[in-house]
Amino acid sequence: MAEEKDLINRLIVELKRLPGVGPRSAERLAFHVLVAPEAEAMALAHAIRDVKKKLRPCRECFNAAEKDLCAICQDPRRDAGVVCVVEQLRDLVAIERAAAFNGRYHVLLGALSPLDGITEEHLTLRALVARVARGGITEVILATNPTLEGDNTALCAWEMLRETGVKVTRLARGLASGGQLGYASGTTVAEALEDRREFRA
Ligand SMILES: [Zn+2]
Repeated sequence: MAEEKDLINRLIVELKRLPGVGPRSAERLAFHVLVAPEAEAMALAHAIRDVKKKLRPCRECFNAAEKDLCAICQDPRRDAGVVCVVEQLRDLVAIERAAAFNGRYHVLLGALSPLDGITEEHLTLRALVARVARGGITEVILATNPTLEGDNTALCAWEMLRETGVKVTRLARGLASGGQLGYASGTTVAEALEDRREFRA
């Protein structure tokens, strides 16, 4: 019996690590998995494994990629001259869902948050500057979230990009202040992109 309990506890411990999953939810999910059909539970396990084994950061933009370059960086129909800078993959997905942008991306993999120990070293800002410095990019759209962290990140990116002379714009304030790009409607995202302004500190 002790061993069975250990196995279930292990699952609960792992589930509790997921964002938004508290101890009660973790328990509920664990017992659901326990009684679920084996095929269903294994499909979840395999989906997690595949995401971790088969995807890696794109060499150019840090989007999830199955090869060296992600599908967007490989697509010749996408405008390589305009780069939209987002905090997280889910923001990229939100903009793609809005279907209002035909350029390329740069995923920062986070936002500046000194209190959480996240400094510019933890983000892909240097890679962004190097990418712009290589040439061929005419505009960088800062599409970080309209939060304190997102605004600070945009300011830092703008300061770092200044030496390259590239045009830097910021999404319009159509998004509710403090809101998250990933939760905005497609129309809102499209409008914020459409009405973007030259960045001013
Ligand atoms: Zn890419």
